[in-house]
Amino acid sequence: MKVLIIGGGAVGSAVALFLKLQGGSNVDVTVIEPDPGLAQASSALSAGSIRQQFSNAINVRMSQFGHEVIANAQAWLGVDDEPVELGFVPSGYLFLATGATAVLEANHAVQRDLGAPVRLLDRAALQQRFHWLNSDDVQLASLGEAGEGWFDGYAFARALARKARSLGARWHKARVDGLERAGDRLVAARLADGTRLEADAFVNAAGPWARGVAQLAGIHLPVHARRRTVFAFSCPTALPCTPLVIDPSGCWFRSEGHGFIGAWTPGEYDDDPDDLPLDQPDVAQFEDRLWPALAHRVPAFEALRMTRAWAGYYEVHPLDHNAIIGPHPELTNLLFANGFSGHGLQHAPAVGRGIAEWLLEGGWRSLDLSPFAYERLAEGHAFAELAVI
Ligand SMILES: Cc1cc2nc3c(=O)[nH]c(=O)nc-3n(C[C@H](O)[C@H](O)[C@H](O)COP(=O)(O)OP(=O)(O)OC[C@H]3O[C@@H](n4cnc5c(N)ncnc54)[C@H](O)[C@@H]3O)c2cc1C
Repeated sequence: MKVLIIGGGAVGSAVALFLKLQGGSNVDVTVIEPDPGLAQASSALSAGSIRQQFSNAINVRMSQFGHEVIANAQAWLGVDDEPVELGFVPSGYLFLATGATAVLEANHAVQRDLGAPVRLLDRAALQQRFHWLNSDDVQLASLGEAGEGWFDGYAFARALARKARSLGARWHKARVDGLERAGDRLVAARLADGTRLEADAFVNAAGPWARGVAQLAGIHLPVHARRRTVFAFSCPTALPCTPLVIDPSGCWFRSEGHGFIGAWTPGEYDDDPDDLPLDQPDVAQFEDRLWPALAHRVPAFEALRMTRAWAGYYEVHPLDHNAIIGPHPELTNLLFANGFSGHGLQHAPAVGRGIAEWLLEGGWRSLDLSPFAYERLAEGHAFAELAVI
């Protein structure tokens, strides 16, 4: 079987890797990627963090597999004896609830059922554990005690690709700018360098650009490239390594080396246009949104200093903020691995494994990924993820 993967970020590379791990020489894998340095790819511009704290059981389980691969990167991704350096920092997420606590409690029950080591903390427990945090307005918090943390997303994508290559997957540096269709199948991709590549199956792993790739096949894919600006900052007061704090204001922050990173995510009613330029991070957000929220939550952050800002695209699927994974119902040899709305890096291994099983064994095996099917779009049936950052 010949498989063409469009996009060589973490997701495309993970699909390539698991196809070769499972299919060996029976599967011919080519990844088409115009930007091998991943300068614009979300995988390189992300916050590189992993959590088990989702509202959907399937997302928890996908992260559990992601953690297995990331925490044991040498075993999964090592090539010969070269060290795999992902810089993984085991540390929890801390979700705070200042109003109603029902969602946090319901999510907690889902996570505990799956063995996720998460703990609910009331205000007193929160104050005792994190003395630097203002918890006056916090009703309840949820802390991940293991199986969460952060890592270098760029290094992760590169390590997935290097391992896939070592098993025989090929990379072709070009952009796909045409897809040829014959009835209910795709037959070939046309590349910007003039090459035409035929294949038995095509995987759309183009991240924030997935909508444009689907359009080449005449398919509507409601995935939107929404710019997110991440800020690095320092604080004159020494604080212990903080968890990744999810604040109800729409802001998050965590330790990064000797400093911190953080960002603000627009809410449902905030302006959030598509395709804003990545070379113009929205630095005004720091003063307008992030700093006031951070200074409220951590009094020592009143004196913080912003040191750097960069922007990347979330690939937002607004219907339910969950991914679209698996075949198109009519064009069945076109598979989607798209729309992760800001948590695709940690789910890349589970998606790669799932797509490989679908192509090589004809169905979902390790995890049932059918809740992410494209069909739900036509039916308008949302499969909502409530713990979205
Ligand atoms: C600021 C920010 C913070 C984030 N934080 C986290 C986090 O903490 N944890 C987490 O799990 N996720 C996080 N994410 C989300 C995560 O980064 C993405 O979900 C994930 O990296 C998507 O991987 P991908 O391989 O699908 O896309 P990408 O990494 O964007 O790769 C897609 C590739 O497709 C290529 N491509 C595009 N068009 C074509 C074409 N026509 N032909 C061929 N190739 C094409 C591009 O060149 C690109 O390299 C964050 C994202 C951002 C922006």
